[in-house]
Amino acid sequence: MIPIPAFSDNYLWLMVQGHQAVAVDPGDAAPVLAYLQQHNLTLSAILVTHHHSDHIGGVNVLLGQFNCPVYAPHNPVFDFPYQTVVEADEITLFGTTFKVLNVPGHTAIHVAYYGGNSLFCGDTLFGCGCGRIFDGSAEQLYVSLQKIAQLPDDTLVYCAHEYTLNNIRFALSVDPDNTALQARQQTDQKLRDQGLPTLPSTLKLEKATNPFLRCDTAALQEIANSSDKLTVFRMTRELKNNF
Ligand SMILES: [Zn+2]
Repeated sequence: MIPIPAFSDNYLWLMVQGHQAVAVDPGDAAPVLAYLQQHNLTLSAILVTHHHSDHIGGVNVLLGQFNCPVYAPHNPVFDFPYQTVVEADEITLFGTTFKVLNVPGHTAIHVAYYGGNSLFCGDTLFGCGCGRIFDGSAEQLYVSLQKIAQLPDDTLVYCAHEYTLNNIRFALSVDPDNTALQARQQTDQKLRDQGLPTLPSTLKLEKATNPFLRCDTAALQEIANSSDKLTVFRMTRELKNNF
């Protein structure tokens, strides 16, 4: 997978095989086109997770250059032709079958794509964090993250933003004694110092360090003064909003 940096902190992920590429959430066409031209690639499909402009802004321009299918969840705001995907649909790309997971919460309409050992999760799960709640709900996002947590530990998590270091700082404020989290801060700081992405991460690492997947831990439950996981999740999301 190739991360194409875009805007201030997005990664537009590109899957490449031979002279073909698949773009995930191409929010901006220009850097994708530049990469494709530079590497003599054609675009064979586009995957869309949700409707935010930094995820779809480049779709129409790319479709003007390449005649390829776009896969996206049904959403009346999309102004490009696409094939609607729903939970459990399967799409085969470069010989790998990707399964569609319905993961609302960040937005009410949001899917992820899971195949091989890779997860394209849009703005649902971030390195050591999760998406803000826009038109979805905290309960939806909690359920979606729990669904993602059921995937195998070695799943590579391809998030759409480089938010990891800031998320780690927040995570340490609510889960300070977590040694896996402390170690992650060192590792990811080094990567960023070298100008490298902190992504993909693994689901194993997220489960060990990401507070939004750790609503059953004592540190978070003490702060929330509750052992109810959804209550802990809501509180953690609120604290992060104000961090
Ligand atoms: Zn978004």
